[in-house]
Formats: sequence, C-alpha cells, structure tokens
Amino acid sequence: MATTEEVSGAEHFVPADASELDQLRAAAARCRGCHLYRDATQTVFGRGTADARVVMVGEQPGDVEDVHGLPFVGPAGRVLRRAVDDAELDPAHLYITNAVKHFKFKSTGTRRLHQTPELVEIRACHPWLVAEFALLRPEVVVVLGATAAKALLGPSFRVTRSRGEVLPWPDSAQRPQDFPEHPAKLVATIHPSAVLRADDRDAAYEGLVADLKVAARALSR
Ligand code: SF4
Repeated sequence: MATTEEVSGAEHFVPADASELDQLRAAAARCRGCHLYRDATQTVFGRGTADARVVMVGEQPGDVEDVHGLPFVGPAGRVLRRAVDDAELDPAHLYITNAVKHFKFKSTGTRRLHQTPELVEIRACHPWLVAEFALLRPEVVVVLGATAAKALLGPSFRVTRSRGEVLPWPDSAQRPQDFPEHPAKLVATIHPSAVLRADDRDAAYEGLVADLKVAARALSR
C-alpha cells in the first residue's frame, strides 16, 4: 500500500508556465508524484496535435506502451485504431492520452499483468490531465472506460449507463473549474481492451464503433 508521501501528487512536477505539450511531456518524464514510476520503464504521455478536434482519454499505458513510451500502441491500441477508422474519425485530428501515465502491473516472473489504478493514483496523476486540457481545445472529448471516467467525471459516473450519449464539456466534469471554459461535447464509451476481454468480441467492438460514431457526428462539419 502506498504511503501518503508516495502519493504526493503530480502537481509540483507540472510546469506552471507551459505553453506547449512538449514542455509538459518533458516534465512528466521526471514525475515522482506517486509510486508508480518506480517499477515502470518510463512515463507515457499523451500524443497528438494541440489543435486536435477530438481528445481521447484512456486508463493507463499497458505493457507494450510502457516499453515504447507511446500510448495505445499495443493490442488495445490496434482495436482503437480500427474502431476510429470504422467510425470515420480522422486520426490526424486526435490527441490521445491516459488518466494515469505510468504502467501499473504485477510481475509474475515472466509476465507483467495489468492492474487497475486505485483512486489515489488517478488523483495523483490528475494534474497532468488538467495541464494537457489547458493547452487543448477539443470539440469532442471521448472517455474510454471506467478509469478515465473516474478521473474526469467522478466515481459515480457509470460508463455502462451513459455511454454513447452526448454530454456537455466541461460542465459534466467532476470539477469543471479545473478545465478551460471551452465548450465541447463529451462521449463516454468502453475501453478498447474491454473488446479483447469480451465473450462476444464482435458485439463489443460494434458497440465501441457505434459510440465513436456518436463522437464523429458531434463534430461540427
Ligand atoms: S503515475 Fe502520474 S503521478 Fe504517478 S509518477 Fe507517474 S506521472 Fe507521476
């Protein structure tokens, strides 16, 4: 169990005067805001353009992402890329990041098994999300799964109940005051890794694509 000292939070590592995402990315590489940096290979920060029309927020990097230092380059990322294409979202207009920026895992000796971040780790990493959104002006925010929903919308938000609905952003955020008053829309859906775990992968995939199509339609033409 992490001690209070170990989860002091990312706040002191976020440069107050950052005007570019690359400045945040460089600073996040040195973050010690919680204990997750110790076992992970590196910080995996968001990627994409600052003028992205769609910002997607996932959970945390996985094993492959941890090695490569890039979000959504593993199996779940492949599912997401296919779903983005099938929903006719332009990948050039995406910025993609995670609620928690270090890989949390349990080692079995030969494998590193993903572990869901605790609320305390999500909160510790929250300043990075806030800093990213301070530099982004999306038209649509896509929340991928329960951890991202916890980070942005609060623990009572249920993806299963509200997925595929267009909600106001930042008004639907748990703490709207943390985010710029740039009016946007928000759509929640499952994390693409849920497709890989589903008994009926085809149905889960079609559900993901349907939700992303809602996000695509929410963009102004
Ligand atoms: S998970 Fe977030 S808060 Fe914790 S060390 Fe990594 S970047 Fe910092």
